Parts: sequence; C-alpha cells; structure tokens
Amino acid sequence: MTTPPPDDRATFDGHAGADNQAQANHSRVNHSQAVTGEIDARAALGGLQQELNRLQRSIRIAIQQQLASMAGQSLGSIAANRELVETIQAMLENHGLRVRCNECGHPAILRVSVRPGCASGVFVFDHTIEGRRTFHGGKTVLPLIQLVSKPPRKKRAPSGKNTRVAS
Ligand SMILES: [Zn+2]
Repeated sequence: MTTPPPDDRATFDGHAGADNQAQANHSRVNHSQAVTGEIDARAALGGLQQELNRLQRSIRIAIQQQLASMAGQSLGSIAANRELVETIQAMLENHGLRVRCNECGHPAILRVSVRPGCASGVFVFDHTIEGRRTFHGGKTVLPLIQLVSKPPRKKRAPSGKNTRVAS
C-alpha cells in the first residue's frame, strides 16, 4: 500500500527547498564567522606588533644606555677591543639593530681596524655607501653609539662581488 506519487512529490520538493535554504544559511553563517575570525586575528596581530615594538624600543634604549656608559674607553689592545665590538655586534644582530655612523648617519657595523701608531687599533663604522664598502670614524676609543634598525636585506643576484672575491 504505497502512497500516491503527487503527495510524495510535493513533500520531496518542499524538503529539497528547505534543505537548500538551510545550506544557504549555513554557508552565510560560515562566511561571516570566517570574516570575524580574520578581523580578530588581524587585531590580535596588530596588538602583538605594537607590544613587540614597545619591547624592541626598550631593548634598544637599554643597549644604547649601556654603550653610552662605555663611550670614550679603550680596552688597551686590539684583541680586547675586537672582542668588545664583536660582543656588541652579536647583541645588536640578535635584536635586528645596527650602529648609526656618527659621520654620515648610515647604518653600520662597528669594527676595530689596525692602524699604524695605534697599539689598540681604531674603532670604525663599516658600511656600504652607494655600493662601495666604506669605513668612517677611526677614533682610538669607543665612540658614542646611536642604534638604528637593521635595514632590510637588499635583493641582489647571488653571483655578486662575493663570488669574484672568493675566486
Ligand atoms: Zn659613515
């Protein structure tokens, strides 16, 4: 005793319609949740970025203050001065920082160079200006150092000067 087709068909249509409606609602809900989630994530990351910037600034100030207290000093030998600047540079590297050349203002790496007549070497700012490696400074004592953010790495073809120097 099966029921006649017309009713069945009507029920089926109605059901299908409801299903479609439900699916439409469902996808709308999902979509709006996705958008809300995206906004939340962006806001969270934005807040995190601000917090990191604050921390980064505190770190920079702390390092800068410590270095300022050491300005005008020399450790008395090239080896000791080199060890000092290498320690400073490693610290700066860890925090994405560079020293600011106090002659031209470019971001630089602090080094100790040999110079005749200067037993403990000289402190120089090592940087690339207009594509050329340049040294500024040259005091026999640690200069007063300002810190700057490390500039973004320049995109250059890997077969550059380094390859030629090596061969
Ligand atoms: Zn310079």
